[in-house]
Amino acid sequence: MEKVLIIRYSEIYLKGKNRGFFERAFEDNLRRAVQEIDCRVDKQSGRYFVRDFNENDTDRLIEKLKKVFGAHTISVALETATDMDSIFEAAKTLSRSEGTFKVEAHRGDKSYPLTSIEIAKELGGRLLSCFHSLKVDVYKPSFTVRVDIRENGVALVFADFIEGAGGMPVGTAGKGLLLLSGGIDSPVAGHMLAKRGMNVDCLHFHSYPYTNIQAKEKVVELAKILAEYTCGTKLYTVSVTHIQEAIHEKCKPQLMITLLRRFMYRIAERHALRCGAQCLITGESLGQVASQTIEGITSSNSVVGKLPVLRPLIGFDKNEIIERSVKMGASETSILPFEDCCTVFLPDYPAIRPKLDEILKEESKLDVEGLIEEAFSTIEKIKL
Ligand code: ATP
Ligand code: MG
Repeated sequence: MEKVLIIRYSEIYLKGKNRGFFERAFEDNLRRAVQEIDCRVDKQSGRYFVRDFNENDTDRLIEKLKKVFGAHTISVALETATDMDSIFEAAKTLSRSEGTFKVEAHRGDKSYPLTSIEIAKELGGRLLSCFHSLKVDVYKPSFTVRVDIRENGVALVFADFIEGAGGMPVGTAGKGLLLLSGGIDSPVAGHMLAKRGMNVDCLHFHSYPYTNIQAKEKVVELAKILAEYTCGTKLYTVSVTHIQEAIHEKCKPQLMITLLRRFMYRIAERHALRCGAQCLITGESLGQVASQTIEGITSSNSVVGKLPVLRPLIGFDKNEIIERSVKMGASETSILPFEDCCTVFLPDYPAIRPKLDEILKEESKLDVEGLIEEAFSTIEKIKL
């Protein structure tokens, strides 16, 4: 009898001829997720197994596996021989001694001498005579013992299905560059696209020394949290201090954020093209703040010429975004109170519906190309 973890995939089932591509990516990602823990990952008839691990590592392994996109469910199981005595021994260790239960049996091996119903009856009967305070309730049991007779001559006995991360394996849907601020929204936006299989690199703009070192550390931490779900996420930072100073000196204060955003998008697109990303990703949500009105979005969008800008949160309410942030484990870091560069030189009344001709007029007072080149000279790649 060996303790194993079973991982079942979700949407990959729907794939046709190219399913192998998704399966291989999923397997690679499972391996990468558990690489720090002594264990072995293998695949058998469309399921993945983690084996040969130390009992004490079980919870840690499950926590890691729950972050691998593509997984539908995970179970902690006992793998045994298929005779009823062995199955019963395994079931006893999973059973509670009181309460209500049922047995669910499934045969992958149709040549097994008992039918699924006969297996359930036999095993249920044995458990009842072993634990006298147990009762059967097939409709609302307090726990379920599940038996799966596999084609390869082993039985898997387990109790629960742990919810997996869902989605598609990261690495199967290209790469995007996430504009990562220190707020709640952008990490969630990156997480959502990683869930659809996209690998995500991050770009953060800071205004050091106006923004402090803790603000940067916070973003590094957020990128690390995101990286637990992706493969090989990189974080780049760029200083926009001189850009903000130039806008502050020469342009109308109420257009500070609008103009800054246009610089950010331009720099992001150029960097994305250099690092092989195929789109930009932002955490914008319609109407959430002044720069996220449709006019604000149009203004920043219009400087991006070659790549699509994906905004997975565009129709989400703040509380829906917060829920996702909590679920991905980023909320506690996101709410730390360190200043973002957008709050430096913040005008009392930012323009809510900025007009393009006014924006262009203000922008013409700036050496846009020179400022962008200078900003690029500050780029840093941060080790996560
Ligand atoms: P959060 O900060 O995560 O997104 P927010 O409500 O503060 O949420 P804004 O500050 O309006 O949003 O920014 C909109 C989007 O622009 C962000 O979701 C992010 O993708 C990008 N962005 C804003 N500030 C920065 C920054 N300092 N570095 C990188 N990207 C940024
Ligand atoms: Mg922000």
